[in-house]
Amino acid sequence: KRTLGTHTSQISSLANCRFFSSVSTPIRATLFPGDGIGPEIADSVKQVFNAADVPIEWEEHYVGDQIDPRTQSFLTWESLESVRRNGVGLKGPMATPIGKGHRSLNLTLRKELNLYANVRPCYSLSGYKTRYDNVNLVTIRENTEGEYSGLEHQVVRGVVESLKIITRQASLRVAEYAFHFAKSHGRERVSAIHKANIMQKTDGLFLKCCREVAEKYPEITYEEVIIDNCCMMLVKNPALFDVLVMPNLYGDIISDLCAGLIGGLGLTPSCNIGMGGVALAEAVHGSAPDIAGKNLANPTALLLSAVLMLRHLNIHDKAEQIQNAILNTIAEGKYRTADLGGTSTTSDFTKAICDHL
Ligand code: NAD
Repeated sequence: KRTLGTHTSQISSLANCRFFSSVSTPIRATLFPGDGIGPEIADSVKQVFNAADVPIEWEEHYVGDQIDPRTQSFLTWESLESVRRNGVGLKGPMATPIGKGHRSLNLTLRKELNLYANVRPCYSLSGYKTRYDNVNLVTIRENTEGEYSGLEHQVVRGVVESLKIITRQASLRVAEYAFHFAKSHGRERVSAIHKANIMQKTDGLFLKCCREVAEKYPEITYEEVIIDNCCMMLVKNPALFDVLVMPNLYGDIISDLCAGLIGGLGLTPSCNIGMGGVALAEAVHGSAPDIAGKNLANPTALLLSAVLMLRHLNIHDKAEQIQNAILNTIAEGKYRTADLGGTSTTSDFTKAICDHL
């Protein structure tokens, strides 16, 4: 009954309208190849899309080499305008230098484009053995506030303060998205993950909003799970979970834990959903500087993110074709990258996927 690894937004986007009005015209989508392994895995997506004849025309944007005052980061204003105009995009990982004082590129994108929900489907891949063969869950992370509000300062020498912001508006918005997602994907349970026993005001408000929305969806089972207990339950029996919704920082951590359950960061896609129907898909992983430029990266996570982007555009036939080619290549086991225990290069693995289309 459940839809495996697919994601269709409840928002009918501008991009959708364009697709229906002119199927033969290529759809323009913004592509940020990103840093580190980003350009290598973005190349892999371009090759697979070409081989599958996907009607997408990429508008490529690179991170600038100086701060753009209009974005207060290395992201150019033109690149943000491109996503706003196209309504849809794919993003490679972007490195964030630690403690350098300028705004994180990822935070800038989320704030400027109001990407309020990050949706991360995570499911066991047949033919690739891990400790579990029954993972099938989706984490939905609030993406704009919480501990990632960027409000940090020094109080006095030796004492710093970070503000965790939770608003009713953002909590209701992400809760509504999670319940609607569950309903429209044939899923049965939404678990709100929190630490309201300690963070009584902030996580307390988040839970209150989730409860309010839950009342509108009597067909979906609603439960609340404290984050530490959630980690233990996920590691013991991930099949206990279906859709999980949570504030920003918890979502960042829990979704990496979930990636570990199915074989690692090289496999897990995500899609950021913004106001007005904008969707920016991206892999869960970072720029992997340790393997960058070595033709070793696993492009699966970015490819499956590109599949989510296609589903958002209602190009389901191509999405299905590419997803099957990726999963069949991995299941067959002849071509796998090093993170999955294989010896294939990024290029060999990409070619094998193209051959499976
Ligand atoms: P990472 O995800 O880049 O790497 C963690 C480990 O996973 C590394 O050993 C890496 O080699 C491996 N790995 C990641 N993706 C892989 C892939 N596709 N194929 C094979 N192996 C893969 O995390 P990190 O090292 O903590 O972060 C590196 C940089 O990325 C930092 O600057 C961080 O801020 C940034 N980052 C960006 C994003 C994003 O753009 N959304 C997300 C996380 C981290």
